[in-house]
Amino acid sequence: MQQTVYESITYSAPCPDCAAELRCTGSHALVGDRLQWDVASTCSACGCRLLACGDDLPRQRRDQILAAYGPAKLRVSGPPTKNIAVMRVLRAEFDDMDLVTTKTLLRRLLSGDYTGTLPEMELLARKLRAAGVTAVATRP
Ligand SMILES: [Zn+2]
Repeated sequence: MQQTVYESITYSAPCPDCAAELRCTGSHALVGDRLQWDVASTCSACGCRLLACGDDLPRQRRDQILAAYGPAKLRVSGPPTKNIAVMRVLRAEFDDMDLVTTKTLLRRLLSGDYTGTLPEMELLARKLRAAGVTAVATRP
């Protein structure tokens, strides 16, 4: 069983029903090999409950998580002979990524310049490890 990687944030937003200030809790997690996010809140003024969830983290929530935790890094190490395996994982992960973009991404990975949320980096690290590549998601 693989460990769940989890990050959460709290933020304020207007209640969709009465416009009072809502205290929202958002989370982003890697569960097994799936990324998921959710947001939950209960309005203290009108009692309405707000729940949202999905697979693709909304950009605004992602920015909040990156601001709160700082970007996580993905470190890939190993002999250059593993580069083909890394590129294969990248192309499978990012649908239809062209070769030039894949090579650029590979260079960023190898130089430790690829960042994102910890669940995102851990997901890619798991896929790379499954392909026999030494990869670790870290937070600086
Ligand atoms: Zn309300």
